[in-house]
Amino acid sequence: GLADLPPLVSDSLLALIAMVNADPRTDKIDVGVGVYRDGAGRTPVMRAVKESERRLHEAQDSKSYLGGAGDRRFAELLRPIVLGAHAGDDRIVGLQTPGGCGALFLALKLIAAFNPQARVFMGTPTWPNHPPMARGARLEIVEYRHYDPVARAVDFGAMIEALESARPGDVALLHACCHNPTGADLSEDQWREVARVVAERRLIPLIDFAYQGFGRGLEQDRFGVEVLLEACNEVLITQSCDKNFAVYRDRVGCLFVKAPSADIAKFAMTHLLQISREAWSMPPDHGAAAVRTVLDNADLAADWRVELDAMHGRIRMVRERIAAADPRLAYIADQQGMFSMLPLSVEQVKRLRSEHSIYMADSGRANLVGIADGDLDRFCEAVVGALDT
Ligand code: PMP
Repeated sequence: GLADLPPLVSDSLLALIAMVNADPRTDKIDVGVGVYRDGAGRTPVMRAVKESERRLHEAQDSKSYLGGAGDRRFAELLRPIVLGAHAGDDRIVGLQTPGGCGALFLALKLIAAFNPQARVFMGTPTWPNHPPMARGARLEIVEYRHYDPVARAVDFGAMIEALESARPGDVALLHACCHNPTGADLSEDQWREVARVVAERRLIPLIDFAYQGFGRGLEQDRFGVEVLLEACNEVLITQSCDKNFAVYRDRVGCLFVKAPSADIAKFAMTHLLQISREAWSMPPDHGAAAVRTVLDNADLAADWRVELDAMHGRIRMVRERIAAADPRLAYIADQQGMFSMLPLSVEQVKRLRSEHSIYMADSGRANLVGIADGDLDRFCEAVVGALDT
């Protein structure tokens, strides 16, 4: 019966949320949850999305089924943004998915369907949902060290060594930008080197692209995607609009698959539709329709860029401020996206909670943009104080 289910290890981030909620102090700083926050500490609906939802509400005259690929125009409009120079390549097919998670689910199941022996190479630490998703697709995982905690940068030697040990058909799971949880991204030269090894070893790159626009900028953040598309015949890209359109709970994502030919790509699409049919039949419409409406209207698309660039600007500002607080935090300015691993012990992390009501994961992983403008100085002082004890 149900009582025979094995116990699960509880998600430590959920436990952290409970801890924040239980703290009655009013000056709490929550750098645990992974959502963008503005200077006032809010995660607002973006202006262009709000307006597109208004237009949708007025214009939508049916909610009849759309089909397994979801909103086709949505996937089409994303192509130039996500694929850049490769947008017109007819060997690349794309379909709407329930968020980046839905895209990862499809991608991993597709790989397992054509090569159950494929192993998924993942750098550690990685997003905590990556390993269970790969295991869920019954794929073996091979871990290597992505992040060198002493150098506070990518352990590129370990990465290349691991990829060079992979067998043809193995999967290289890569974060396109804004590495979660470390913020440590590859340089352009390192991307070229990864593409060279992945192509030479005939590995399949699976690129998780959840934070486009939060790193160096919308165009710059797809550098790795473009280099790998240039180098390889088979590439999978799992995209999410949940962060860069701030539509988290509406679950908006897209999977792009590049095959050796347009015919094989079309054939792979029939399998993707079958897998999604078994899982969710059709993706939820609203969020993708809202994103489509933004991208399909020049005024809304331009305003989205303005607001996205402002979010990116705040991420940079917060990083610079923290980096300037102490030489031991200087590396934070060289990293990308919302996350960083702060050089704190578990004891120091716990003391920040009890003495300063600052909440981050035990590992020291912090969503830096979770800090409101008015709390930045206090955060820096508390962290530097903790480093000294
Ligand atoms: N990949 C990474 C690295 C993420 O951090 C996240 C979300 N936290 C996702 C994928 C999934 O995003 P979504 O909410 O769109 O499913």
